[in-house]
Amino acid sequence: MKELQEMWKQVLLKVEMMVSAVSFDLWIAPLEVLDYNKFEKLILSTNSTYAKKQLMKNHSDQLKSAIEEVFGEDTPFEILDPDEKKEFLKKNKPEINQAVVEKEIEEDKNAFNPKYTFDNFVVGKSNQFVYAAARSVAENPGKRFNPLFIYGGVGLGKTHVLHAIGNYIKKELPDLKIKYVTCEKFTNDYIDSLHGSNKDQGINKFREKYRNVDVLMVDDIQFITNKNETQEEFFHTFNDLYQNNKQIIIASDRPPKEIATLSDRLRSRFASGLIQDVQSPDFETRVAILRKKAQLERYIIDDEVINFIAEKIDTNIREMEGLLAKVYFFATLLGKKSASLEEAKEAFKEDLDEKREDLSPDTIIDATCKYFGISKADIVGKKKSKEIVEPRMIAIYLISEMLDMPLVAIGKLFGGRDHTTIIHARDKITEQYRDGGRIKTLVNAIKEQINAN
Ligand code: ADP
Ligand code: MG
Repeated sequence: MKELQEMWKQVLLKVEMMVSAVSFDLWIAPLEVLDYNKFEKLILSTNSTYAKKQLMKNHSDQLKSAIEEVFGEDTPFEILDPDEKKEFLKKNKPEINQAVVEKEIEEDKNAFNPKYTFDNFVVGKSNQFVYAAARSVAENPGKRFNPLFIYGGVGLGKTHVLHAIGNYIKKELPDLKIKYVTCEKFTNDYIDSLHGSNKDQGINKFREKYRNVDVLMVDDIQFITNKNETQEEFFHTFNDLYQNNKQIIIASDRPPKEIATLSDRLRSRFASGLIQDVQSPDFETRVAILRKKAQLERYIIDDEVINFIAEKIDTNIREMEGLLAKVYFFATLLGKKSASLEEAKEAFKEDLDEKREDLSPDTIIDATCKYFGISKADIVGKKKSKEIVEPRMIAIYLISEMLDMPLVAIGKLFGGRDHTTIIHARDKITEQYRDGGRIKTLVNAIKEQINAN
């Protein structure tokens, strides 16, 4: 194994010469070697599915040639994402698997991104109330706003705020037990606990993990499934913690009343605390956030570039950061020390050129249905209630905007509607989108889902 690690180091040195420093730090360096001998194949693992995608798309040739130089010609290699890694270890290395599970438990405690702190959070009009509430909860968990429910559009800093609370408590109140999970993780954990060899033991372990904490944070609760059992378990977890004055913090992309899959019982529980939204930042705040990021990442970037990005992207901070990283990356590719407006324009152009050819209207319709928790039959059908009509119009808008599809064909998809109906829907949503507010948030969240696929 030691030898293998040495060989891997050699590979890294070679790849480092072939890719930019940013790519190396982001994608290559975090790779881990899992195995070699057993299959005469080099098994590597990444820390996210996204990282795997990026590696396969942009760096597989470079990896291949570096690996062949060190391990010999035609050495096959495979990159596993975290789930595949787990599977692989379970099958091939049960002894390591146990260690990984234990490590995961340990890591839970340190699950907070060190960069997501209150200090690094730029406060403006759009987020001052969320900031204040989060601060107060971090300083006095379980005492004031309980539960704290934070909602707002994609990429507006909800996860950042949750981690900031976590980082703060870890430092200032180190005796407290904090648990941060995504809704998806909570659900999977619960389902896993039911499928072990001993169900009672599984459930007990699960409860111990989730109820034996002082602060529980659940991120992206909008993904809560309709499955009664999971909601039931969550409901009881909630009550148990709440009655013991433990702090509960929830984040979502929309308010409780708009999460179709949420049970009424939970909805009213959430309403008993503070429900606070984050809004899209204004121009000044966007500029301040970009400055902060540039400083944190040690990017050297002209002010006019920051202004350019802040003007171009006005809803999603994550996207804004992505563009900032890209601009800097372009500049380093050209061997420059500082990024100028030219690189910014280049990076932006590339972003716009990235058309999705694999996208189908069904993907858009499915994502819209999933978002609103309605059926496909309803969205393309005849129902005229508001819960159906609005999603229908949004799906029509998204299809006409994201795909190059004739209006008549879109009409056909929606139960043979007339093309004037399609125009009406498209224009109405376009107009509401321009006004910002709720529709814009909804549309962006659905788009994000579609693009994540
Ligand atoms: P959400 O969970 O709302 O989708 P995130 O918390 O993941 O969004 O935020 C997206 C990115 O934007 C993160 O990198 C985060 O640090 C950054 N961000 C959002 N709001 C702010 C802010 N007010 N100050 C600094 N960075 C921010
Ligand atoms: Mg988030």
